[in-house]
Amino acid sequence: MSDPRRYVVRTYGCQMNEHDSERIAGLLESDGLVAAGSEADADVVVLNTCCIRENADNKLYGNLGHLKTWKSQRDGRQIVVSGCLAQKDRDEVARRAGHVDVVMGTHNVHRAAELLAEAAGAGAPITEILDAAVVEDQAMFPSALPVRRETSYASWVTIQIGCDNRCAFCIVPAVRGEEISRPFDDVVDEVRRLAADGVSEVTLLGQNVNSYGRDLQIAARRAGDTSARPRPLFADLLSAVGDVEGIRRVRFTSPHPKDMRPETFSAMAETEAVCEHLHYPLQSGSDRVLALMHRGYTAERYLERLAQARSTIPDLAVSTDIIVGFPGETDDDFERTLEVSAAAEYDYAYTFVFSPRDGTEAAAMEADFVDPRVVADRFERLRTVVERSALLRHQARVGRVEEVLVEGPSKKDPSITSGRTRQNKLVHFDAPVPLRAGSYAMVEVTRAAPHHLLGEFVERSVDARHTVRIPVAAL
Ligand code: SF4
Repeated sequence: MSDPRRYVVRTYGCQMNEHDSERIAGLLESDGLVAAGSEADADVVVLNTCCIRENADNKLYGNLGHLKTWKSQRDGRQIVVSGCLAQKDRDEVARRAGHVDVVMGTHNVHRAAELLAEAAGAGAPITEILDAAVVEDQAMFPSALPVRRETSYASWVTIQIGCDNRCAFCIVPAVRGEEISRPFDDVVDEVRRLAADGVSEVTLLGQNVNSYGRDLQIAARRAGDTSARPRPLFADLLSAVGDVEGIRRVRFTSPHPKDMRPETFSAMAETEAVCEHLHYPLQSGSDRVLALMHRGYTAERYLERLAQARSTIPDLAVSTDIIVGFPGETDDDFERTLEVSAAAEYDYAYTFVFSPRDGTEAAAMEADFVDPRVVADRFERLRTVVERSALLRHQARVGRVEEVLVEGPSKKDPSITSGRTRQNKLVHFDAPVPLRAGSYAMVEVTRAAPHHLLGEFVERSVDARHTVRIPVAAL
């Protein structure tokens, strides 16, 4: 019997892409391929691309240049380019890199193995891009697809694809299409299967998760179904997923501030498994810039909703995304961003320097681009504000005993164990015995830094809802 073919998937970009990569890996394994340790061992390399990052196309074509030599070193080797950049640039990839075997879009992931076989059979490259507008079935959701999860104890669950918003800086709606929500029962069924398979933490994934179900309700009403529930479905989904036996933690990303509703906060507070963490993207603290971005909220409204979230959900950690130097951002606009950031008291923030993405409205605002030196200075000032609040919020946790989901040995120092609290804080701690990744431990926080906590192991935690604690002395 000949050795199975080996594959490598290289992922660029967001969690949605990482999840797509898991699905591609799962499909290839279902077709008999096995994971390779490196490209040198591989017969198939998949580059799952992202066009959100700066210079994504230059990096892709650079990688494809190296892979041309790799491909020529062994017969039968194949290269796949998938993801957002493949969706957006379509024939461009095949034109600039004729040695690529398969170019497939974000809605063709389910055909990965077939396309490889077709390309091998045809002896010629294949480009297959399904436009978001014609995606009508549920093939793009992972329920029907094999998935090779990166971790055994945690999983992403896609609840929605696409986005109906038109943020001026974002290419996602152009490449991922309109919002399509996955059927409610389909999501809950997948979470049940994951729990039965040993998963205890799920992250619900979508471009705008808290508008989940809006399209399903509209479609039901158009079809004359008056029984369609008027309730916000994302809150329902949180509760249903959180109630699945064996699920101890539910997270979600990303919500949109304009669609945040009190019902969602209530569901977060009332569903024990839903973690006390809200990613709440601000993008700018200036109403003028928010309007240019088409974000659909003001700074005041944003802070009001945040206050409501904090008053509803005890011990809530809040993170955010902020863009510095959006075209036309003045000193005064930026001061508003500093003020809102200070008022929001974030636990952490992903701060980005604006960079234009081809095909977006903001990329065409070239005349208003901000001087890079000014942007760099603003970026540092914002970082200082965010790190100050992060450190203060972390210091407030010192002395507390927190439940930590163990991820394994620390990357920097394997003698130390790392994990995450319910508030999604990274904790490094000493454990008296090796703790299995995916197990839970109670850890006393002893020190705080802006980006992590340090702690000491107290005891194992077998189940948060029916906690059975095994003290150190009994280990
Ligand atoms: S909400 Fe805005 S930033 Fe988020 S995916 Fe949609 S268009 Fe992009």
